[in-house]
Parts: sequence; structure tokens; C-alpha cells
Amino acid sequence: MRAANSESGEWVDGFLFVANRPILDFLNTRPVLAQGPTELLSDVRALERWLIASGMVHSAKAKSILRSWQHSPEAALFLKDLIAFRERLRDAVLRMEAGSAPADEFIKEVNRGLLRHPPITALHKRGGRIVREPTLELKRPSDLWPLIFDEAAGLLSEPEASRIRKCEACVVHYFDTSRKGSRRWCSMNICGNKFKVAAYQRRKRSGESP
Ligand SMILES: [Zn+2]
Repeated sequence: MRAANSESGEWVDGFLFVANRPILDFLNTRPVLAQGPTELLSDVRALERWLIASGMVHSAKAKSILRSWQHSPEAALFLKDLIAFRERLRDAVLRMEAGSAPADEFIKEVNRGLLRHPPITALHKRGGRIVREPTLELKRPSDLWPLIFDEAAGLLSEPEASRIRKCEACVVHYFDTSRKGSRRWCSMNICGNKFKVAAYQRRKRSGESP
């Protein structure tokens, strides 16, 4: 899987990419903004933009097929199912972050998904090295499921599950790739600085030196 396009850093085309894993970035498509919990995948067009910004869909052909689904009732139904799946995945991730296992029922659901929508991968030359990437055969919206189930299965079977974390100050999840495994925030810009300023002010009020 390619990394998200990162020309503008953490926000790409109105979506947050700070998780180091596309499936966690996918969870983060319902952040809490100033106006409260906000659904960023508000319609099929938004889903199209997210799939492109995340790097999950990158071929010109796949992009134009996605574009053709903008007003498709089938795509709208798919999006509804996808968002429902995202929330069940959120529950599984919250359990993992608390040190327990995802619900058996959810593991069964992902297994059924993998069976029904098996991910097909192929090797590609990319920048002088060989990468293994999912092959997308987009004929209908449900052909996006192999990507989702493949990524979800990878997350659930993550050997370093303790690096899957939620930001200490907000609802955003991420995979900690820092060397020491000591990342605490979704992003220094979004929550880290707020936290540091608040801690500084607390110390100042209590008379400690900063
Ligand atoms: Zn945060």
C-alpha cells in the first residue's frame, strides 16, 4: 500500500493522514472537530476523494471508474455498509488499545469478508524496488471490499499491537512508528502543542518553573 499523498502534510484534500496505516486513517474519517463529531465520508464523492488521497486508489482507470459512481445508488449503499463496518472496526481497535482481543463475532465477519472478497496482490516495480500491491478490478462498488478486508485483517493480526494507540487528547487513532514507541498524540500540531501549552500554564499557575 502506498503512503498517503503528503504534499501538504497531515491534511490532504480535507482528510487527516497521521496514522501510518491506511485502515487507521480510514477510522479517522470521523474526527471530532470544533463543531463536534464530523462524518468526513459524507457522500460517494467524499469517499472517492478519500480513496485517492489515501493512495488506496491511484490508477487513472480506477479513478475514472470511481468518478462514474458519484450518483450511483449502489455506491451509496456500499458507503452506508462501509461506514457501519468502520464503526465495528473502531470497537475492535478500542478493545485492542485496551489490551484485549476484538470480539469473536467481528473476527468472523472479517473472515467472511476475506472469503467473499479475497484480496489479489501483484508485484510492481516502484522507484527501483519491488512492491507488492493489491490489484483492484473495479467493476462495482463492492469490488473495494478486498482492500478494506485486507487492511483490516492486517491490523487485527498486527504483531506489534501495542503500537496501535489513540491520541491522549482526541479520538484519532494511529500506529506508533517512533523508535522508542513513545508517541502520545495524533500530531504535534493538532494535540501535542495544545497539551504542552496547557501543561506549561498549569506549572506556571502552581508556581513551578516551566
Ligand atoms: Zn489528537
